[in-house]
Amino acid sequence: MSKKVILVSIDGMRPDGVLQCGNPYVETLKKEWAYTFSARTCIPSVTLPCHVSLFHSVPPERHGTTTNTYMPQVRPIDGLFEVLKQNKKVNCMFYGWEQLRDVSRPASLKHAVYLNALHHDDSDRKLTDYALDYIKAENPDFVFLYMVETDEKGGHAYGWMSEEYLHHISVALDCVKKVAEACPDYDIIVTADHGGHDRTHGTELAEDMTIPQFYHCEGIAPGTDLGEISLLDTAPTIAALFGVETPVEWEGKSLLNR
Ligand SMILES: [Zn+2]
Repeated sequence: MSKKVILVSIDGMRPDGVLQCGNPYVETLKKEWAYTFSARTCIPSVTLPCHVSLFHSVPPERHGTTTNTYMPQVRPIDGLFEVLKQNKKVNCMFYGWEQLRDVSRPASLKHAVYLNALHHDDSDRKLTDYALDYIKAENPDFVFLYMVETDEKGGHAYGWMSEEYLHHISVALDCVKKVAEACPDYDIIVTADHGGHDRTHGTELAEDMTIPQFYHCEGIAPGTDLGEISLLDTAPTIAALFGVETPVEWEGKSLLNR
């Protein structure tokens, strides 16, 4: 059976937030997944620049989106969605913040669901259920599930590491558990885009720049601490899982067979 991958991004999730949120699934993530609590995101530690970097494996200074307003690339690089589409993979995306639509170019997705998290309670859980329904029905090759509530309704509204913030991380990890249990045939990667401090992020402070990642993937040993990897390594790792070639411009390195 050919490889299939689900990438989950939990916006604004700090490593110490994962460790302090009280969700019992964290123990499973540490034992049965490979993990890191010391990965680094890109500068600036802002949502859209970091996600464009996540999918294009270059820093914001190279792709040109340096704020939450998308900028067409001056010297375009294909991103993960485009690379997978060129290799005849079926891509889909479920997201709660509209600016994220620009991580893929038109025609790269077969299916997308956008739910404005500001106008829907429990958007993380709802998007997870939409994704699981679609996966069950259509068995797509690559799924991107983006959850915004930890950042928007936790960190910005009440402060990073507040009770409300930790609650949203725990809800998001419940969603990860649900996805993992429902999709045993998929490799699954969970990341954050940046951390945060007080009620903001975007600086070069360690609290903003350090992110957790979790890998439940063939070829990456469970229980391994992956250490100080980069957000730029995620797209090359997913491409390697699919066995497809990556653009020469990509700067990250696959975590497979390190
Ligand atoms: Zn963000």
